[in-house]
Amino acid sequence: MIEPLERVISEFKKLPGIGQKTAERLIFHLLTRDSEEVYRLSEALKGLTEEVERCQVCGNFSIGDKCEICSDSQRDRKKICVVSRPWDIAKIESTHKYDGLYHVLGGLVNPIEDVSPDDLSITELIERVQDDGVQEVILALEPKTEGESTSMYIVKKLRPLDVEVSRIAQGIPVGRDLEFTDKATLGKAFEGRRGVD
Ligand SMILES: [Zn+2]
Repeated sequence: MIEPLERVISEFKKLPGIGQKTAERLIFHLLTRDSEEVYRLSEALKGLTEEVERCQVCGNFSIGDKCEICSDSQRDRKKICVVSRPWDIAKIESTHKYDGLYHVLGGLVNPIEDVSPDDLSITELIERVQDDGVQEVILALEPKTEGESTSMYIVKKLRPLDVEVSRIAQGIPVGRDLEFTDKATLGKAFEGRRGVD
């Protein structure tokens, strides 16, 4: 295969869920589109690195230092919902069941992949709870092993603080990512959240 094609295919293959065949199919598809369309795609991708930043407060995607949610004065600043990845926020927002702030951990504790609590923004979470008068922390992590152990760890860390800790209800099928949970189920899980002793 000629070099420019090889180059794009090898970049596409680094993306999750894309193997040689899919990469080839996508590239052949792009080659059949007009060049204006391909240019727009490449500009959009460039914007990802040039325009999208991470919120300094919560870790959400943002344009600038503070995300839209952290900047919104209408949000209830006494509540923080803890998620693993920024895209979980969009999922929860789509349920319209939550009006507080968020905190993105940046992953889950996973000994097999060598991710320890120190690799996650747990210290930052504790600091926010201590400094910002937070009254409720809602754990919305995937109900699978890694999400469980991460939740346990955070609960232990928050216990000495004067804050209510709750977890979204177990309506989500075990082993499924928050990302793939449908809106209605996630909304119910939110409403049915339970306090952690
Ligand atoms: Zn933010």
